[in-house]
Amino acid sequence: MAKKGWEKEKPACPKCGSKEVIPILYGYLSKEAWEMEDAGEVEFGGLDLDNDNNPGWHCKKCGNRWK
Ligand SMILES: [Zn+2]
Repeated sequence: MAKKGWEKEKPACPKCGSKEVIPILYGYLSKEAWEMEDAGEVEFGGLDLDNDNNPGWHCKKCGNRWK
């Protein structure tokens, strides 16, 4: 379930162009994922995996969230 592809290629924020973006994870996170959440490398978006409107990225610079 955990995706690793984002580590290679992070998108730039469509709003401010920053590369300081982190992926938003959903569902039950692994211990490693929680450690990354603590470190601010990922964001926990909740347990709702089935919502098509879930944003996938969070910009740490401007707070923008997008899919
Ligand atoms: Zn931004």
